[in-house]
Amino acid sequence: MRKYVIGAVLTFALCNVGFAQQTKNGGDLVPNGKGEGLQQAHGNPKPAKPGTTQNGINYHGGPIITGTTNVYYIWYGNWSGNTATTILTDLASNIGGSPYFNINTTYFNAANTHVSNLVSYKGDTTDNYSRGTSLSDAAIQAVVSDAITSSRLPKDTNAVYFVLTSADVTASSGFCTQYCGWHTHGTIGGSDIKYSFVGNPDRCPSACEEQTVGPNGNAGADGMASIISHELEEAVTDPDLNAWYDRRGYENADKCAWTFGTTYSKNGALANVKLGTRDYLIQRNWVNAAGGYCSMSY
Ligand SMILES: [Zn+2]
Repeated sequence: MRKYVIGAVLTFALCNVGFAQQTKNGGDLVPNGKGEGLQQAHGNPKPAKPGTTQNGINYHGGPIITGTTNVYYIWYGNWSGNTATTILTDLASNIGGSPYFNINTTYFNAANTHVSNLVSYKGDTTDNYSRGTSLSDAAIQAVVSDAITSSRLPKDTNAVYFVLTSADVTASSGFCTQYCGWHTHGTIGGSDIKYSFVGNPDRCPSACEEQTVGPNGNAGADGMASIISHELEEAVTDPDLNAWYDRRGYENADKCAWTFGTTYSKNGALANVKLGTRDYLIQRNWVNAAGGYCSMSY
């Protein structure tokens, strides 16, 4: 199960882009120096010894996103005529309040404030290949920065900005070979902005799509739904990469990547959750309670 990952390269990628969702056949993450021996949160009601856990994931003292988490999309490249724009907008509009996203409420900060089950889709913008078709990590941050500094999107520190690239675009630090998506944060306009890259897995179905059909009839967009969900739940529980992750460096969604629980048939594809009016196949997430486990609901 290590078809794609080369440890040294993955370490490099993690150091530069934050936490990545591995490709479907990826191996274990290499420890990145963050996982052990760090101080525990003062507000953790049952402090664990460094390097040990009660629920299989540890708090490392950094912020989480509290209150309503806002979501913005940046459609990079050519998305004209692609149903992804409605399928994925519907996802962001309906994931909040679901039993699925409620899993994230099991995570909290040093003040014992928990992640909420509130997500608000706040809008989108387009980017017509401003940085070409092979995006470096710096170029991806620049795409976010451009959208904010040009006022196409507001500057929002309680948000996650998703750079969604069309299938003719790659990310040069390892899309399709090292990862399918990632999230990180950066200083933009003097503020700490959380953002994520998610590529169109139609570019590499064997690495980044669970199935080559989709419950909404768009394999790429249906595949992105799971990756967006993965990055969103990591971004709310570990926005600055110093809050919730395990000894291996795995964040909540990493611990359940490419597992889906009970599925059912929809439009010739598999699905496992209904959000709003649509069915999706979205990976499970790690519940930070009862010893810890992967689930589709809490
Ligand atoms: Zn991840």
